[in-house]
Amino acid sequence: MGRDAEGGGTCKPRYPPPLRGTSTGAPFHWLLAAIVATLWELPAIARQSDLDAALEAWRAAHGDLWELEVDPTVGFGVYLYGGLADPETRPEDEAGFVEAAMGFVQASEALHGIDPETLAFERRVFLPLSLIDSSDKITVRFLQQVDGVPVEGGCVNVLMDAADDYLLSVQSTGLPGLETFDTTPSVPAAAASVLASGRFLSDTGFHAEETSAPRLVIAQIEDETSRTPRLAWFVQASAWREGERLPPVSFYYWFDARSGELVRTRDAVKHYDVSGTVVSYVTTGTGGLHEDGDFEVKPMSRIAIFDANDEMITYAADDGTFTIPGTAPLTIKVRYEGEVTAQIENEPPNGAEREETHTLQNPTGNIVTMNDSPDEEVTAQANAYYWITRVHDWIAATNPYDTVWNSFGTDLPFAKVNDSGLQCNGGVSNHWLRLSPSDTSSCGDEDHWSRCMQAALCTNTASATIIVHELSHLLFPKYGGFATLTFEEGMADVYALYVTDQEIYAKDLCLDVEYPCGDRRGDNALRYCLYGPEGCHGDTHLSGQVLSGALWKMRQRLKQS
Ligand SMILES: [Zn+2]
Repeated sequence: MGRDAEGGGTCKPRYPPPLRGTSTGAPFHWLLAAIVATLWELPAIARQSDLDAALEAWRAAHGDLWELEVDPTVGFGVYLYGGLADPETRPEDEAGFVEAAMGFVQASEALHGIDPETLAFERRVFLPLSLIDSSDKITVRFLQQVDGVPVEGGCVNVLMDAADDYLLSVQSTGLPGLETFDTTPSVPAAAASVLASGRFLSDTGFHAEETSAPRLVIAQIEDETSRTPRLAWFVQASAWREGERLPPVSFYYWFDARSGELVRTRDAVKHYDVSGTVVSYVTTGTGGLHEDGDFEVKPMSRIAIFDANDEMITYAADDGTFTIPGTAPLTIKVRYEGEVTAQIENEPPNGAEREETHTLQNPTGNIVTMNDSPDEEVTAQANAYYWITRVHDWIAATNPYDTVWNSFGTDLPFAKVNDSGLQCNGGVSNHWLRLSPSDTSSCGDEDHWSRCMQAALCTNTASATIIVHELSHLLFPKYGGFATLTFEEGMADVYALYVTDQEIYAKDLCLDVEYPCGDRRGDNALRYCLYGPEGCHGDTHLSGQVLSGALWKMRQRLKQS
């Protein structure tokens, strides 16, 4: 169950502009507009000949590529796009861009019909589209209002090129012809509250326990042929059904502020949803995974949620929360499988993958815990799921336009955990990670940097930094790869340290105080071997620390500055 943010339309900008010629249809639009104008005599509607003349004048000034999409329900352009127009003066700063944007709105008024006097600056947004082979853009948004009374869903978005200040498009969701609109209500606010309570009782059979303070708005009343302004009181009325486990009842009402007539109703509650959060125990922090380790609860971002018949219903959100249409109680299934991670496989002989079947008892607040009594075998699956998904989210947060994960297609990355085919180590094949179980038998010689010394316990390698390191080996070839394995191993450690935000690689890999295993660290002091072989610090992993040390320390200094 959730509430709508509020009534009214949206101001979402459109960008980047579509290719030329994809949609105008002006003659057909005009035919409808002409009929509407005849039938309803809407004074705001421009004559098509006026719009044609205005577009010709605009093209003469700014180039022939400009197109105008006309909305027949208002009889004006709602999207001017396709060309490039120079600003009157070059913007030098943020205020300059807002000024330039307003200049474009004024210059194109005959096309969109929105009086600039009815617009108030709301915000300016920088769009780093150069990351997807376009150029950086700036959107400036103005909200429409008359005498401080907002036009619901009414705004004008101006899109400009960030480097060259060109105008790229003007888009309007507002109402033309509002400059003389009268915003004086005849119905007082208190009367609107009474109207809402009465209406609520007749709609629901409940007395309203709460009505919001009536807010004066200019509603956009739409039907198939027209979109017109109406001065209205906007009120929300609600009741809670005490003693029942049912959603509250809540409605939005719009009453004409001059006549008191009800002009629009909207249910404010999405009924019959069941919501909750999927969580799992994972190994605490970046520690080693073993039976006596520490565990903490984490949300299972983007995990797939199945119904009792194994049909997928939805994916959880980034924070593990989900909403399912239906009524509680409701049975769902989850396993370590999600939107960006294929199902984690459990490799020991006869090892089964963890699946949690859970009955959601309440409409809201359900908590589904996948790994209630954490042991090594299941926590290895949980860790692998959690950290592979974290790497995806880290890349997406660093660069929202990075498409490398998409190139996995349907072969999403995953891990085979508790894989005794390797010892005290991780690896990759095809599009999956291989991670070994804990054991003591693999510990032997002292000559390898990362392996345990004799008698030590090597912990399960399904732990934070090792998972990130191995996954990065799957990602690097997609970014073009590296010239040397040393460089690649160093970069894999950089990913591991950056994603986990700490400087120790493979912490607690070996549990033995007397013979701890060697650490690789970001705060190392290894130097580049100018004259020696590339692997002069030992193997490619150890030598890669020259790179991971440099990049880790650079990150620390950037964070301090
Ligand atoms: Zn490696």
